[in-house]
Amino acid sequence: MSKQAYQPFYDQFDADRLAQEALTGDLSVGINACQEVCDKWASDPERIALNFEGVERAPESWSFARLQQAAARFANLLKQQGVGKGDRVAGLLPRTPELLVVILGTLRAGAVYQPLFTAFGSGAIEYRLDKADTRLVVTDDQNRFKLDAVQQCPPIVRVTAKGADSHQDLDFQQQMQAQPDQFEPVLIQADDPILQMFTSGTVGKSKGVAVPARALLSFYVYMRYAIDLQPEDRYWNVADPGWAYGLYYAVLGPLLLGTTTHFNENGFTPESTYAMIRKYRITNLAAAPTAYRLLMAMDQVLPEGEDLGLRVANSAGEPLNPEVINWVNRRLGCPVMDSYGQTETGMTCCNHHALDHPVRVGSMGYSLPGHRVVALDGDFKEVGADETGQLAVDVDNSPLFFFQGYTWGEKDPFHDRYYLTGDVVISHGDGSFSFTGRDDDIITTAGYRVGPADVESTLLEHPAVAESGVVGKPDSSRGAVIKAYVVTKPQYDADENLADELKELVRNRLSTHAFPREIEFVQELPKTPSGKIQRFILRNKAREEADQ
Ligand code: ATP
Ligand code: MG
Repeated sequence: MSKQAYQPFYDQFDADRLAQEALTGDLSVGINACQEVCDKWASDPERIALNFEGVERAPESWSFARLQQAAARFANLLKQQGVGKGDRVAGLLPRTPELLVVILGTLRAGAVYQPLFTAFGSGAIEYRLDKADTRLVVTDDQNRFKLDAVQQCPPIVRVTAKGADSHQDLDFQQQMQAQPDQFEPVLIQADDPILQMFTSGTVGKSKGVAVPARALLSFYVYMRYAIDLQPEDRYWNVADPGWAYGLYYAVLGPLLLGTTTHFNENGFTPESTYAMIRKYRITNLAAAPTAYRLLMAMDQVLPEGEDLGLRVANSAGEPLNPEVINWVNRRLGCPVMDSYGQTETGMTCCNHHALDHPVRVGSMGYSLPGHRVVALDGDFKEVGADETGQLAVDVDNSPLFFFQGYTWGEKDPFHDRYYLTGDVVISHGDGSFSFTGRDDDIITTAGYRVGPADVESTLLEHPAVAESGVVGKPDSSRGAVIKAYVVTKPQYDADENLADELKELVRNRLSTHAFPREIEFVQELPKTPSGKIQRFILRNKAREEADQ
């Protein structure tokens, strides 16, 4: 497939033309997100929106036409409950067709969909429902008990196999059957919210982020140029729609382009992942690095020489280690590209499968068209080639940038015309960037600033390492020494010899000042529910050790 040249495409970016290409509605008049991601494709009864692989129920395929009717029923249900434009509707549901219906029905009603990840406990749920003043929550039998402990819980609609019981909940199926399957989509303005998100909470309390309708354009560009989604593709983004990566790019993005998306209700294991790819003949795979790292650590599960039929793969959310890139190329048989994004902004910096630009191994790529991404020094000046700085978005020159600030009083992330990401990168001078670490995760050791990403990637080159988390441990002479918490693969001995080998590896491969002077082997790393390594927990641990 021939690629478009990156530079002219990027320079001559025309947001209005793009809007005409991507949307049926007119952003300046008002649009409806359900109309954009569903109705547009529903006239073709054969076109499949979702392939669903369940745990206890048979697989299902849903056409866009069927989805449109179900979304209309749910929008009618909301209306009957007095829920409308701008109201928050939460979904505490696994990856099932009902989840998709709830998301699209909410959008059809002009209301705002709020994801609640099913791994959340009642405290995390209460925090989010309370902050967002949520008007209605949809859950199922498995997750219902978590709402018992929520103070002032909004009305509950339950997807239930048990029928009505002592709870006051509305029965989803019964209610849906009683509703008409037509509902005129409610138009909203470009800056009106469609999603009520919360950040992952990797460095502390989650921040509230309302995503406006205009974000659909940004999602479109990502799917089209970074993922290179073609109408005939079968796309599976493993990420859960309880988070930005899954909701933006496993639900809204692919459907906006009329492409089939896939839900696997089963938890993530190498076996179920390969089974899903084979069964649905997936061509485009997307997953977080933690998923690829697990596949790599369990290499033996994939028969040698099997052609899975994948065309392209993508990754986002954490650094994509070069070792993983090589492994995916060799074993999954397709190129994997890294992209960088945030809940606040969606993807802003990507390697694009559909655009022609050099790809540097270990780099997270170039500005997503419609954005101008830069690195700033401590005085908020753009840095030169090969310099390190904070990644920022030049908002004035980014027509597709959609973040409007945190919903509830958290600190202001803007400075002049820049949105500050809080992440530190190296600028390569050709428009591409490599991730060094979160601002808080950067280690200052003997006067050098070292990012954990490079050290972790180098450790991963050793066959015994499954993954690692690297932090600074306070040290009286160096300020901090680098400490690595390492998880080994099952068949390897975690002993002094291995620790010495790992130190030598980083010293030789990376640099003499960036090698971990301390290595501790651990069973697992602290992670967010979405699978991101929480280095601040490791940092606190190292600090306590140093104090002893
Ligand atoms: P919180 O803001 O609540 O601490 P979070 O920043 O992890 O949580 P998200 O919005 O889910 O919440 O994640 C965005 C962050 O993930 C980025 O700021 C960056 O630190 C990291 N990230 C995303 N993509 C990449 C990538 N390709 N390479 C390295 N890091 C990435
Ligand atoms: Mg963040």
